[in-house]
Amino acid sequence: MPEQFAKTRISPSDLTFGWSGCKRCFYMRYAYGVSHQGPFPGIVMSLSSRQEQWYKTKHSHDFSPTLPSGVVHSTGKMLESTPIVVNGEVTPFTLGGKYDFLMAYDNGTYGVIDTKVVSQGGKAEFYWPQLAAYDYILSNPKKDEPRKCETLGLLVWEIAEASQHSADFYNVGFNAEYEPVEVNPKKFEGFIAEVVTLLSGDMPVAGEKCNNCEYFDKRTTLDL
Ligand code: SF4
Repeated sequence: MPEQFAKTRISPSDLTFGWSGCKRCFYMRYAYGVSHQGPFPGIVMSLSSRQEQWYKTKHSHDFSPTLPSGVVHSTGKMLESTPIVVNGEVTPFTLGGKYDFLMAYDNGTYGVIDTKVVSQGGKAEFYWPQLAAYDYILSNPKKDEPRKCETLGLLVWEIAEASQHSADFYNVGFNAEYEPVEVNPKKFEGFIAEVVTLLSGDMPVAGEKCNNCEYFDKRTTLDL
């Protein structure tokens, strides 16, 4: 374990792909600030930004009639939590990141919605740690008053069809679906305790899903 961590603010988005993959890479990112940023498809970024523009001024029932009545409170705001407490001990780690949509419901509660453009829906469980992390931050904010989340969910756009409009213009259609994500602060406390415990220990060994470390080890033995 390093004497001082390079990064102590845990990003909610790292708790999905980052945490579900090899824990060694996750550890190196926070302990030493070393991470590999793979290419992110520009088309997804462009579609996400259109999604956000479209829903910015909408009522909660435009996202889903199943949501409580309310409006968009704010979008893309950076938040940070108070230090995470594990087994009664204050740790150096916090949670911090930007949500897509914070909803303010008429009954005084809140909701967080994250937008996703995907090839296939059904991702609520996979993205639960990210959404639950926003809930944790809103309930334990470094600044401002705590806010209680009544709902968490994904607004998913899934490609449904493509058709030709004219010789040089094509339309692409999306199915839009709201996928509710479990609101369970107790479960998240257990989850984040596991994350912080891993970061507070020794560097984990490489997992089995990726062979990059093995590749680099072999490569450095070559005298090229
Ligand atoms: S095998 Fe190495 S490069 Fe691949 S995810 Fe694990 S630590 Fe990262």
